[in-house]
Amino acid sequence: MPNIENNITLVTARVNQAAIAAGRSPDEILLLAVSKTRSAEDIRSAINAGIREFGENYLQEAVEKIAQLAAENVQWHFIGPIQSNKTRLVAENFRWAHSVDRLKIAQRLSEQRPSGLPPLNICLQVNIDNEASKSGFATEETEAAALAIVQLPGLKLRGLMAIPRAEPTYDQQIVAFRALADLRDRINQSLDNSEKLDTLSMGMSSDLEAAISQGSTIVRVGTDIFGKRT
Ligand SMILES: *Cc1c(COP(=O)(O)O)cnc(C)c1O
Repeated sequence: MPNIENNITLVTARVNQAAIAAGRSPDEILLLAVSKTRSAEDIRSAINAGIREFGENYLQEAVEKIAQLAAENVQWHFIGPIQSNKTRLVAENFRWAHSVDRLKIAQRLSEQRPSGLPPLNICLQVNIDNEASKSGFATEETEAAALAIVQLPGLKLRGLMAIPRAEPTYDQQIVAFRALADLRDRINQSLDNSEKLDTLSMGMSSDLEAAISQGSTIVRVGTDIFGKRT
C-alpha cells in the first residue's frame, strides 16, 4: 500500500530542493498530481495532503472522477491525447489542457469552451526529441501554431509541454528540457507582452529535478505520489 500523504511530503521536498538549487522560488512550481487509473479515494488522500490540482489522461475515466469529486475545491488538467471528436468533454470539464498538438484541436476547444467559464488554459505539446512514436508539434512548426492559437477567444495559451525520451542521467535529461525552454523564449520574442508564455509543463517522477533546473513551472508526477500503476 503506498502511503500517498507521505509520498507527497517527499515529492514536495524534492521540488523545493530542486527549485532552491536552481536559484528559483518553490512557489513558481506547481506539483500536478497525475491521477490516471487512480480511484477517487486515492485522490481524496492527496487532497487531504494538500494537493489541489490533478492531471488525467483518459477522458471517460476523468469525467467520472470529476463528477464524484465535484464537491472538492480542486482543478483538473487534461494531459492525455485529445481526439478531435472528444474535444467538447475537455472544453467543458477541465481548467487546463496540456496536450494540444494540432491547430484543429485548438480551434474546436475554443469554439466549445462554455461561455460561462474562464478561457481554457492550454499548452502546446512539442515533440521535442522528434520521435516517430510521440505526438506533438515539431519544434520548427510550434511558433507558427502559437501565433495562430493565441488569437482564439475561448483559450488562454499559457506555454509548452513535452514528454522527452526517458534518459538515465541528469546531464542527459536536461538537454530536452533546455531545448523546450529555448523554444519558449524564442516564441515569446514574437508575442505581445500580454500574450507571453509563462508556463513550461515538463518533468515527471524520474526527471523533475532536471526539468526544474531548466525552468519548469508544472511538474506532472504520478508514480512517485500514488505508487506504480498496474
Ligand atoms: C502518466 C503521465 C505522467 C506521470 O508520469 P509518472 O512517471 O508516473 O510520474 C506525466 N505526464 C504525462 C503526460 C503522463 O501521461
